[in-house]
Amino acid sequence: MLVTGIGSKKNMLQLEDVTGKSWYKIDESNEEHQNIVNELSVGDNVLVEYSTINGVKNINSLNVNTAVVEEKTVEKAEPVTNTLKVGGANNFPASVVPKFACKTCGKSMINGTYENCYDCNMKTKATKTPAVQTHIARQSIGHMTSVTVGAMLNSKQYPKPVNTKDVLELIETIYDKYKTKVLGE
Ligand SMILES: [Zn+2]
Repeated sequence: MLVTGIGSKKNMLQLEDVTGKSWYKIDESNEEHQNIVNELSVGDNVLVEYSTINGVKNINSLNVNTAVVEEKTVEKAEPVTNTLKVGGANNFPASVVPKFACKTCGKSMINGTYENCYDCNMKTKATKTPAVQTHIARQSIGHMTSVTVGAMLNSKQYPKPVNTKDVLELIETIYDKYKTKVLGE
């Protein structure tokens, strides 16, 4: 039965069964029972035998229900091998430790923050990097060039180019300058 209350003098236990909660009297002369009660907390499960004398339920036999304790422990420790979740936030009950799987190789991961495991992320980066990085670099170089050329054309500090050819030359010079700096080409 579920322990739902413990008397302040530890001589009574409130236990719940299918019929509801009731108070049970502990035999105070029984040291073994007293030791068990001293260790009990609300929420524990006990096996009792009792006899009702003058409307009072007297506990004759008291044992911690280890079957329930074990069941609880197993439930908590059981790995969730058949409910792998790919990425995203978990929607498992809090009592269950969620497992996540790498989207690419299926390896289990500690959390679902990333879709791929570290190894797969590294592989993806390694195969994509040169082309993607060059593309990004060229975009930045273009952006830096346009900002710089714009600033130069609007600044009184620089002599104004007189025609389109001069402007194009300025752009090319600035672009090449940044390209050398960023890509080393
Ligand atoms: Zn992986």
